[in-house]
Amino acid sequence: MPNFHSNRLAKEVVLRDPVHEYIHIEDQVILDILKTKEFQRMRRIKQLGPIAYVFPGATHTRFEHNLGVYELTRRICNIFAKKYPSRRSGDGLWDDNNRLLVECAGLLHDIGHGPYSHTFEHLFGTDHEKIGQKIIMDPSTDINRVLSQVSPNFPGLVASVIAKTYPNPQVVKMISSQADADRMDYLKRDAYFTGVTYGEFDLSRILQEIRPYSDGICFTMAGMHAVEDYIVSRYQMYQQVYFHRVGRSMEVILQHLLERAKIAYQQSNLPVTPSLAKFLAGNWDLTDYLKLDDGVMETNFSMWTKSSDPILADLSKRYLFRQPLASVCIDEETKSLLPKLKTLIKQAGFDPNYYTDTNSAFDEPYDAYKPSGKNANSQIEIMQNDGQLIELSQLSPLVRSLNGTLQGDERFFFPKVMMSNNLEPQIFDPLYQKFQRYVKNGTLRYIRKPKK
Ligand code: ZN
Repeated sequence: MPNFHSNRLAKEVVLRDPVHEYIHIEDQVILDILKTKEFQRMRRIKQLGPIAYVFPGATHTRFEHNLGVYELTRRICNIFAKKYPSRRSGDGLWDDNNRLLVECAGLLHDIGHGPYSHTFEHLFGTDHEKIGQKIIMDPSTDINRVLSQVSPNFPGLVASVIAKTYPNPQVVKMISSQADADRMDYLKRDAYFTGVTYGEFDLSRILQEIRPYSDGICFTMAGMHAVEDYIVSRYQMYQQVYFHRVGRSMEVILQHLLERAKIAYQQSNLPVTPSLAKFLAGNWDLTDYLKLDDGVMETNFSMWTKSSDPILADLSKRYLFRQPLASVCIDEETKSLLPKLKTLIKQAGFDPNYYTDTNSAFDEPYDAYKPSGKNANSQIEIMQNDGQLIELSQLSPLVRSLNGTLQGDERFFFPKVMMSNNLEPQIFDPLYQKFQRYVKNGTLRYIRKPKK
């Protein structure tokens, strides 16, 4: 039995939201978390990073996504408390004493993200999950101070829900599973702000048919098609938005830009803001991390456009002024052509270490069973009228066809000019022609030697 108590606001605070219409804040601690500097920082970090270069509307931030996940957990708690209240411990129904805990975990599940998290993690060894745990647990943060006012062990409980170690699977799976509040919010929100319609699914129907059971959360038979639709939406969003080749190209530029900055910082007196300097020097701490946001990063890129390091200056301009690299699909076989292509790119005047890269983007739209890894044991169960559980892909031929498959592609990125020698005849160079013989219809191919 949780040993903390909620402190309901005398009058709820209601925020307007384009995805969920309203976000209702009913508890003092939720309002207090919102006001912390660590949570306000999320306003300055775009949810989709460089994907905003592809879909101009996608400049929404992690702030509203975190709020949206909170709102969905709040609604699910309302539904569970009304329709499936626990009467005795162990009956597999919902114990609403967990409400405040799961709401706080929903609100804070992404608190460890910084600007361009994935690129940053790769380059500077930051880990948004560990940092998130630290922001919640470290007595130096305002978030820890607010959570501790609920009860001294409350920060630890919230951290354990996000780390998936809290013993109640209903609480954990509301935040992380193959059909959780996190995914439902980001799919709908990202679809709304990119303007695509792929992410549309019937959320209100899903919320009507969601229910608790002893091992977590499942859906009733009446909700099966709504859940199926959600899986298909997820698949389409990954292929059309998250894996967009231009978004990935901008991420490649960003990565090389930061790699180059690291070297330039060590070799010369590169102008850099104090917070980012700590990362380039490799001796950052939590305070430095919390000072970073998209604006700080862009300020640095803007300064670097005038750098004496020509590669850093050029990559900074390419990133800020949206000049993506071109790309082609590659596979295990055509990969062997890459050294040849890189030689031609080098002859054209580009350092292949900074102006080329391979990048693979694959996703499993749904996995019926995975004993370990990121989606361990989070298959979607549909409850029959007699209480029996059947795994979703057994019921849906659509989901079955996506089950366990890896969807996506691997691409080779290179300077666009390699494909465009005809645009400026005065710089006509047979080198580009040679390069272009390898690229046809967006894929790499071998050049057949003419038969003699
Ligand atoms: Zn999230």
